[in-house]
Amino acid sequence: MQLARPVPWPNGAKVACAITLDMDADSLVHIHHGSNAQNKLSATSMLRYGPEVAVPRILETFRNFDLKQSFFIPAWCIENHAKTVEAIVEDGHEIGYHGYIHEAPNSLSEALEYDWMCRSIEIIEKHTGKRPRGNRSPLYHMSAKTPDFLAKEGFLYDTSLMGDDVPYILETGQGDLLELPVSWATDDWPPYVHAPDLNYMFAPQAPDRAMEIFMAEFEALRHSPGGLWISVWHPFVSGRLSRWQRVEKMMEYMVGTGDVWFATLEEIALHIQGLEADERYTPRRDRLPYSKGVQVPEELLGKS
Ligand SMILES: [Zn+2]
Repeated sequence: MQLARPVPWPNGAKVACAITLDMDADSLVHIHHGSNAQNKLSATSMLRYGPEVAVPRILETFRNFDLKQSFFIPAWCIENHAKTVEAIVEDGHEIGYHGYIHEAPNSLSEALEYDWMCRSIEIIEKHTGKRPRGNRSPLYHMSAKTPDFLAKEGFLYDTSLMGDDVPYILETGQGDLLELPVSWATDDWPPYVHAPDLNYMFAPQAPDRAMEIFMAEFEALRHSPGGLWISVWHPFVSGRLSRWQRVEKMMEYMVGTGDVWFATLEEIALHIQGLEADERYTPRRDRLPYSKGVQVPEELLGKS
């Protein structure tokens, strides 16, 4: 089985791979509980494990494998975990936009969404010296206006949607935006996150079991070359000792296949842009919005 539009990756690699880390940290307890967050010590400590313990461990692994990868960090976390973010930037990794304090864009008015996006971009630029080129909407909760706002603010890519195995173009009202698609199958939330204070109560799986799901996606892409494997992991989740030891084994295996190109999402997006410019690849195009003017008959509405 072949992909409909396999991407020619650098050096003949079969799969482009990106281990992306969403460093939400304790933004989650604040957005859920407001001023009562100070009474949520257990959840707060669990989340702060990310910047305090897991990120230094993750950075060490990336140094050992000589990899640069992409981190998506709410602007509030950039301000409140500045030392950790400094270490990420110092090691040459990419920092993308991930909300101000992990608010869901599709729960905000257009004006609020755009205002907080602009404020967050400023914070990211101030702390990292660079405007973010990529967006991942918190919990993938992109609004109908998010693609327009991203294109308007000069973002190169988004990585919140799930519409393909390969990069594709979102046609927005403000121009094109490249989508680097993700999947719940390579997200660490469903197999691991048990957090009663945040209303998530999945039964934590053994690392081998979680890895089985993540790697099924990878092996499928090796079998049908030209696709993109993006993990969406969280330092406080996947950076815990047993899980991260398993990730290191995974990385050894992936590198050992000789089939992968590990890159930041910005590098992957720039590669696609270069291929387009040379007329060596034409991405599929999705015109937004998806569902303008759809009318469900009143008597059928909600009867799913
Ligand atoms: Zn997040």
